[in-house]
Amino acid sequence: MPGLPPAWTGRLPRRFPRALLRLLLPSSCALCGGGCDGVVCAPCRDHFCLPVTNRCARCGNPLCSPSPPRSQESSCGTCLSYPPAFDATVAAVDYAPPLDHLVLQLKFSARLPLAPWFAAMLRDAVLARPGLPLPDLLCPVPLGAGRLVERGFNQALEIARPLAAALGVVLHPTLAVRQLDTRAQSGVSPHERADNIRGAFAVDDPDLVVGRHVGLVDDVMTSGHTLDELAATFKRFGAARVTNLVFARTPPHAPTL
Ligand SMILES: [Zn+2]
Ligand SMILES: [Zn+2]
Repeated sequence: MPGLPPAWTGRLPRRFPRALLRLLLPSSCALCGGGCDGVVCAPCRDHFCLPVTNRCARCGNPLCSPSPPRSQESSCGTCLSYPPAFDATVAAVDYAPPLDHLVLQLKFSARLPLAPWFAAMLRDAVLARPGLPLPDLLCPVPLGAGRLVERGFNQALEIARPLAAALGVVLHPTLAVRQLDTRAQSGVSPHERADNIRGAFAVDDPDLVVGRHVGLVDDVMTSGHTLDELAATFKRFGAARVTNLVFARTPPHAPTL
């Protein structure tokens, strides 16, 4: 271990290096700043990370029916009238303060240790819906080449990698590719978002998709147009089912990313 005399390390109990590492590199909760072993302390997690309940199983928007819903897999009126290309949405939390700040920190401040924590929260949300079939493979929502160079990483891939390991599902990081470098959805008015993203994606290896259940991973689902377009692309290439796996879901009418 760097910084420790060899004589010390030779006498350390087996579990000591981990404890020592915590001592040397004390971590603090990303929400309250208090000391904790992980990314977010247990009290903050219990207080802020409330389970997303009484939602449309397909799009993740709140259901108008009285809670609890008739079934864990109920769909909202919009999805019944205008079915999106995806079949299900799992969100770990609502996109709201203070968790929205963590999403921004990952994306714009490259606070990459947040990604495995997002993945762990998302895994718990998936496992909380036992009737939901697990995808056969996971695919992160791809960034445009320009944005990838500018940012240096794709936050969706950073979440998808530990999520795939946690769920035991194979990850295909480049299965979906951006064939158009569109404007960021956050910079486009809500009614222009579907047009902005139309035709943006292609599937790199169609043989991997035919008849399969694809899981699309992203940090935030806002209008859902990007995921809908990507799901429609996969369905065109023969995917049997598409499930969105997002850390945070923006409730309708909330300020968007
Ligand atoms: Zn805390
Ligand atoms: Zn819906």
